[in-house]
Amino acid sequence: LFSAGRAPLDVLKQIYGYSSFRGKQQQVVEHVVSGGDAVVLFPTGAGKSLCFQIPALCREGVGIVVSPLIALMRDQVEAMKQLGIRAAALNSSLSREEFVEVRRTLSAGKLDLLYVTPERILTDGFRELIAHEKIALFAIDEAHCVSQWGHDFRPEYRELGRLGEQYAGVPRIALTATADPHTRDDIVERLGLNDAEIFTTSFDRPNIAYEIVERDQARQQLLRFLSGHKGNSGIVYCLSRAKVEDTAEWLNGQGIRALPYHAGMDRRLRDTNQDAFLKEENLCLVATVAFGMGIDKPNVRYVAHLDLPGSVEAYYQETGRAGRDGLPSEVWMAYGMADVIQRRRMIDEGNAADEIKRVERAKLNALLAICETASCRRQAILAHFGEAHAGQCGNCDTCLKPVETWEGTEAAIKALAA
Ligand code: ADP
Ligand code: MG
Repeated sequence: LFSAGRAPLDVLKQIYGYSSFRGKQQQVVEHVVSGGDAVVLFPTGAGKSLCFQIPALCREGVGIVVSPLIALMRDQVEAMKQLGIRAAALNSSLSREEFVEVRRTLSAGKLDLLYVTPERILTDGFRELIAHEKIALFAIDEAHCVSQWGHDFRPEYRELGRLGEQYAGVPRIALTATADPHTRDDIVERLGLNDAEIFTTSFDRPNIAYEIVERDQARQQLLRFLSGHKGNSGIVYCLSRAKVEDTAEWLNGQGIRALPYHAGMDRRLRDTNQDAFLKEENLCLVATVAFGMGIDKPNVRYVAHLDLPGSVEAYYQETGRAGRDGLPSEVWMAYGMADVIQRRRMIDEGNAADEIKRVERAKLNALLAICETASCRRQAILAHFGEAHAGQCGNCDTCLKPVETWEGTEAAIKALAA
């Protein structure tokens, strides 16, 4: 079952139980299997993991995967083990015994995939660990972390360019769902992937319905939105930890089962809440942006924002967690000018370089333009990623309810004229 040189399609069918590749998965897989470098820019839920997992299984040696979050690694490793893939993760939460076990399996040539944090991969210890191993590939997941223009900048990612020098000849594949041109250029440049083939697909998520409203009574507005989602699971994003706690408590009082999630919570409680969300069908997770990267819950039916996200990229990522199963899903945001003022202040008072501050302001304005547009939201969002869309998608509030605006305007004109 685990011999190198297997055909990718056989692996897909026999191990994953899927009948066919999706989108450009097959092209990426074949390119990497044959030893090429790749940059993969597919939207959330497109199935980027298989783009490195399958080549790792088809090539000789162990595939080494850099992933920024321990929770993310844990989930992926667990999922693979369930399929019979020999996967392990090296991170600070391992006990000495667990580490020894991983090392033993690795040196026995019995590991298909090894996940590591970006901090660890460039240490001398890790280099020694893999010095005598055959390496199938390096995968750099969530590669936008390399870029300051992105929303999850991780300085350690910057150093990963060294992998290309230290392990020449081993294919590298960088993957992200962030596709704006700045981030893309940073990935190529910082990771030294100039010779890589770049694979992109449309960022449109046609099953997601977009709605953005101006805030007046946020909680009542939220309740109205959630009333259309009885029995569903979804995420409500808030800017602050305090607001997460308050909102979750209030929702429970309104008969909506809600749990909080933010980085200030006790680690175990946070994990418990995350696990509950992943398993249950009727749960509202109220969270800060600390929640979500790499989360693979297919049936998230809604995502609500009670505060303005930091950028179009962040908004796209966060809303993109809805509807990964392809079924109709709704995303909703309430924003107010107060958000904009607060965001501007956060940027102005932050200690980033002026250059970065300028970018941050521009990003905020780009998001604001999407909030305020009277034409198709989908078109505006995709345009931000450099993608043309004809507009009038028929699945966003501006497409679905333009008449009301007109009537409102006409009524207002009549009232003024009277
Ligand atoms: P991404 O990293 O691009 O956000 P994932 O790799 O987490 O997406 O995949 C999202 C979901 O799609 C997973 O549940 C995965 O098993 C599923 N999936 C991926 N490729 C296929 C395929 N070819 N056929 C069916 N399901 C797939
Ligand atoms: Mg992923």
